[in-house]
Amino acid sequence: MRVYNTQSKRKEEFEPLVPGKVSMYVCGPTVYNYIHIGNARPMIVFDTARRYMEHKGYEVNYVSNFTDVDDKIIAKANEEGVTAQEISERYIAECRKDMEGMNVKPATTHPLATQEIDGMIEMIRTLIDKGYAYNVDGTVYFRTKKFKDYGKLSHKNLDDLRSGSRSLLVTGEDQKEDPLDFVLWKPKKEGEPSWQSPWSDGRPGWHIECSVMAKKYLGEEIDIHAGGEDLIFPHHENEIAQSECCNGKPFAKYWLHNAFLNIDNRKMSKSLGNFFTVREISEKYDLQVLRFFMLSAHYRSPLNFSAELMEASANGLERIRNAVSNLGYLLESAPDDTLAGKDTGNGSGAPTTQNASTGNIAASEQSTSAGNTDAPEQIDGMTEAEQAELANVMAFETKFDEAMDDDFNTADAIAAIFELVKYANSNVSAENTKVFVQAVRDEIIKLCDVLGIIAEEQQELLDEEIEKLIQERQEARKAKNFARADEIRSQLLEQGITLLDTREGVKWKRA
Ligand code: AMP
Ligand code: ZN
Repeated sequence: MRVYNTQSKRKEEFEPLVPGKVSMYVCGPTVYNYIHIGNARPMIVFDTARRYMEHKGYEVNYVSNFTDVDDKIIAKANEEGVTAQEISERYIAECRKDMEGMNVKPATTHPLATQEIDGMIEMIRTLIDKGYAYNVDGTVYFRTKKFKDYGKLSHKNLDDLRSGSRSLLVTGEDQKEDPLDFVLWKPKKEGEPSWQSPWSDGRPGWHIECSVMAKKYLGEEIDIHAGGEDLIFPHHENEIAQSECCNGKPFAKYWLHNAFLNIDNRKMSKSLGNFFTVREISEKYDLQVLRFFMLSAHYRSPLNFSAELMEASANGLERIRNAVSNLGYLLESAPDDTLAGKDTGNGSGAPTTQNASTGNIAASEQSTSAGNTDAPEQIDGMTEAEQAELANVMAFETKFDEAMDDDFNTADAIAAIFELVKYANSNVSAENTKVFVQAVRDEIIKLCDVLGIIAEEQQELLDEEIEKLIQERQEARKAKNFARADEIRSQLLEQGITLLDTREGVKWKRA
């Protein structure tokens, strides 16, 4: 697998620090409002990168923060007359709902800046001890001139930046030794949340939080650090400075940055006011359409949001879903004895007929075993011709993997799925064995799932099915099988059903 590294400005072979494991940090949103679809772009594209690496068999430790202390949060809190914590908690909850709608997996850990202040004080102390930071009247700055590699990520001309910043210096900033020095800790102002520190009662600068959280949850050296391209400078450049000077080690091996989501060819942003929230989009479209739209372009290409492109994405998604549901009908409508009298190629027709008619777990497990795309497994119950045909089906997965191995080229990966769909529409029919139909259907669903796209329409649970599961959960609890009881609760939650344990028994409601 090759990934484009912003630092080296080229695609590099991906080799994690620990074979088989990936540590990945993605800068998360500042939570003072609903997230907009520009913020959703890094969430979707890096969630897809994670899913693909998991598909390849890596164990991915994925950390993404919520910035819950910031000027904008404080301003919003003052506007509403509530605490900053109330604002950040509210919008973290809303952000999680949006993530769920977009099928973005929760991170392994979602740390909050306000819960990590001790670690930040610790890191700032180390930087001061090592001479990389200095305190002026309670404000601590990072001494950029002392870090020889400063600028290595953004490749900026530091002299130009220095002279540019010098003319922009605002009052109070003239206490800095150098215009490029940045704040690690600042004293509180009236009405702001604050924490005690050796330098002043105050709060951390924005950059230090990510250095500290990455170190705590992933270690001093990590594989991948990612975010939107606006974060390259100064945020990520400053993270490198803090982490490498504190730890004395290289920080991240690969730096990945997504391009902007634009509207009328300008960056979508809150400050320009040209944004749509994910919530607004969800009122018009299934959020799966938004995900599909985001993945239809390469993550390093600018993407312009338009109603036409969303319509095209809706149509593309529908084409895939139609193929999956048609294959589902074939499975349902074909008689159970489809295999009767056919040469199964391995002489084991009788038992596998049962497999095919009962949801075919054995076959689908084999067909979804990741990685083995060149040598199709022998699947019980298929004809010899179908066994041979399976190699053609698996070739689409190889194509898909090749696209994703090339710096997560989701646009070409989607093209490979479309080819598979076309193949299914024109080659799979009621003449096929159920096992084969199932294998093709599973393959489409599986590849979509790697992209986080749900190809199988979810069927709503009927009331009686819910009651039955609740009954089963009660029995599991009685038998002290709490794992099963929890599993049922989660299964129902995934379908939007919340359980309430009350004195009168278990009640449930749909979301
Ligand atoms: P923020 O809350 O502004 O710090 O942004 C959270 C994440 O969204 C960062 O990784 C930003 O780079 C990213 N982001 C913000 N606006 C856009 C946009 N219009 N297109 C792509 N990514 C964006
Ligand atoms: Zn960050």
